[in-house]
Amino acid sequence: MTDDSYLQQRLAVLAEAELDTRAVRAGQTRTAEGEHSEPIFTTSSYVFASAEEAAARFSGEQPGNVYSRYTNPTVRTFEERIAALEGAEMAVATSSGMAAILSTCMALLKSGDHIVCSRSVFGTTTVLLNKFMAKLGVRTTFVSPLHIDEWEQAIGADTRLLFLETPSNPLAEIADIRALAALAKKRDCLLVVDNCFCTPALQKPLELGADIVVHSATKYLDGQGRCVGGAVVGRKAEMDEVLGFIRSCGPSMSPFNAWVFLKGLETLRLRMEAHSANALALAQWLNEQDGIEQVFYSGLPEHPQHALAASQQRAFGGVLSFKVCGGREAAWQFINATRLVSITANLGDAKTTIVHPATTTHGRLSDEDKARAGITENLIRVAVGLEDIADLIKDMQRGLDAL
Ligand SMILES: *Cc1c(COP(=O)(O)O)cnc(C)c1O
Repeated sequence: MTDDSYLQQRLAVLAEAELDTRAVRAGQTRTAEGEHSEPIFTTSSYVFASAEEAAARFSGEQPGNVYSRYTNPTVRTFEERIAALEGAEMAVATSSGMAAILSTCMALLKSGDHIVCSRSVFGTTTVLLNKFMAKLGVRTTFVSPLHIDEWEQAIGADTRLLFLETPSNPLAEIADIRALAALAKKRDCLLVVDNCFCTPALQKPLELGADIVVHSATKYLDGQGRCVGGAVVGRKAEMDEVLGFIRSCGPSMSPFNAWVFLKGLETLRLRMEAHSANALALAQWLNEQDGIEQVFYSGLPEHPQHALAASQQRAFGGVLSFKVCGGREAAWQFINATRLVSITANLGDAKTTIVHPATTTHGRLSDEDKARAGITENLIRVAVGLEDIADLIKDMQRGLDAL
């Protein structure tokens, strides 16, 4: 049964399906070969039945594949699957998470427009906005993710986008998506949420009122640290603009990477829950140790936005950070004494990683900006992976013993 009515019925079933089912099945249309797993279409272009058909495809009159910079079946399967998971009309895949943020800005903003952005966003996002968007005449004001009144005061007549990440990296500050979505609506701006840390398995910003979600697929969507990629997700009107940017300017996702991300999405919720369970157990253990000054994880009841996190997330995610007693030397001794976890800045991997933010991910910030962002010399970030928690605790004990 591969006829049209079977396909239509399957699509109808999927449209009503729950998240886990969508994660495994959304977006796939089988070819005449009857393959079960999604194929990788490594082709740059497509053949038309006639000159007339070629003309109709190029003009957009007839839907279908034209050229893999903007139409590829494997990439489209990934786009439909991530859109189904976020509960969005449409998604556009990009070559990286940064390309997703750049494409959103380039597609939706013009010179003279203004962005209000959380101060606690990924470091490279700050560079993109402060250096490259500023060069094109788009200004950005940075505000605290925690204080709505700062956002409200920063919004002016030219403000088009509000941009945030929650939980923030590395201190796990939680921004109130519902409140900021209401503010965006009231002031006629679009709320863009970088949902990299939670993924749709734990948090659905569009359901909470956000307009657009951006992703670094490099992290949890892949989940095993293999490929770089990204996505922009939202309403068709804005996504058509983003796709237009991809089509003409070229930061497209490769079909091979799309296939890797598709395989990652199939296990997304199971992994996110396992990451979260390991991270919570590790946060609780660290919290009880002498030698640890403070633990930052929104799953701990004493976290100042614990209730807010619980109200907008299904679990608390895989990233935590903590301050050791002492300064940079103590933090480095702790990191250097570990034998299991990887000393690397990547996150969203089955393998646990450990890093010293002040001299790596946040090393480009001035001392003043570091102080304001709470990035102290004794701070360590751990992106908790899927190893056995007992082994992770033993490794952290090695770090503690070195202090
Ligand atoms: C890694 C990351 C990005 C950038 O993604 P790339 O795929 O590395 O370009 C953007 N936002 C957040 C929160 C990230 O962690």
